[in-house]
Amino acid sequence: MIDSREWSIEKEINHPEDLVSEVDYLRLWTEVAVEGLRIADEARKGLGVDYLESINAVYAFDSDFQGGNEISAEWIAMPAAPYESVSFDKKGRIQTGVILEAYTRPRSPFLLRRVDGKLTLEKNGIYLLDVEFLPRPKYLDKKTSDGIACKHLIAQVGSAWLVNVPSQYCYYFKDGDECKFCNLVETGKVYHPGIKVKKPEQVAEALSIAMEENQSIGVSLCGGSFPGTSGHEQYIAIIRAIQERKLNGDARSDGSVPIDCIAGAPRPDELYKIDEFKKSGARFFQANLEIGDPKWFEAVCPGKAKAVGYENWIHALEYATEIFGKTGRVRSHLVAGIEPARTLLDAVRRLAEKGIIAWANPWKPSNGSQLENHRTPLPLWFFKLYDRMSDIYIHAGFSYEANIADLAPRNADISLLFNFWRVKTGIRTTDMWKGYFNQGSAPNPAQGPQALENPV
Ligand code: SF4
Repeated sequence: MIDSREWSIEKEINHPEDLVSEVDYLRLWTEVAVEGLRIADEARKGLGVDYLESINAVYAFDSDFQGGNEISAEWIAMPAAPYESVSFDKKGRIQTGVILEAYTRPRSPFLLRRVDGKLTLEKNGIYLLDVEFLPRPKYLDKKTSDGIACKHLIAQVGSAWLVNVPSQYCYYFKDGDECKFCNLVETGKVYHPGIKVKKPEQVAEALSIAMEENQSIGVSLCGGSFPGTSGHEQYIAIIRAIQERKLNGDARSDGSVPIDCIAGAPRPDELYKIDEFKKSGARFFQANLEIGDPKWFEAVCPGKAKAVGYENWIHALEYATEIFGKTGRVRSHLVAGIEPARTLLDAVRRLAEKGIIAWANPWKPSNGSQLENHRTPLPLWFFKLYDRMSDIYIHAGFSYEANIADLAPRNADISLLFNFWRVKTGIRTTDMWKGYFNQGSAPNPAQGPQALENPV
């Protein structure tokens, strides 16, 4: 059991000797998540060939768009503890260790170098530890029957999940009402020009190619907002195309498959769309509130505030728990670091009481967004935030193990917050990844969620 003094926010990681406990590795992850990193030229070798490069399928977080030319990495794998170094299986899936987002910042104290063949992470010129890029899946270069490379249709999210963005469009940008941290449309123009809308059959075919390699266990559908319900309908068409191809090896008794709909919250007269997601077979519904305080929500997300509204957004999430249950299948995301911690935590608590899990990645001020070149809070601010957020989920009665067994995406596999929760629950990454990739060894999912029908 981790000593509660370990959760002090004062300590920073400056030398390899500072990496003593699992909590120290979370500290380091938190620092890298906030500061970004630099990649030495020699360390870029092999990216896009042997190692997975940035695809920028949704947003681009690197400091520069690089005209789409400079190859970069989207993920790095890092040991989770002194006794848990990184390992992959023959299919390139992680077996031990944690996966961090690897976006670049020119002033970051962190530098990735290749030294004697090993990828190393330095801070202020001092070696900290060995890390790894993710192996590059072959399916990315394979083409669908109409000749589109899969990497333009789907992308890898860490080691376990895939993502598809039906179109890198959001109508809030039209009148300058986009969320102020968002660069989705600009990212699409730079990195995926020429592909306007991905056809459901193309996406389903790309997924079947990827899953044949057995790289991944599920897919998230996400993207910008559309007027009315047209965005939701795009998702439903894709889910149906996936179902027709019978990519449902993990189908559960409730008919759901590991598809995660990250959509805008429907307005009160359009809530039936949530029922349709469920009926089509999606297992997860996520509507990103982004900001916890209602006034900050209006200021930072004016499009969402005008089209749906703060309370309607929460109401839609609450309605979704009636359809998808209160075990972690209804989720939201808050961008951590824009508003005060107190209002963000108040919202997290309120959502948790309703059976909704909200995760909160550190805000990465991005090129092309209205908040480009702003600064995010210090790593210590996030360390304290995730300590409190993970406590909220533990005290609300959600089960970490049941969420893994349910194959919940964008949680334990890549999210810092969920790894705070994992460490507090005493689960090692080896068991976490087994739970994702080898369902035979995971807790019985039928028992997990149902046993927690009313977790708060
Ligand atoms: S709804 Fe907000 S976060 Fe989502 S794509 Fe549109 S502007 Fe970006």
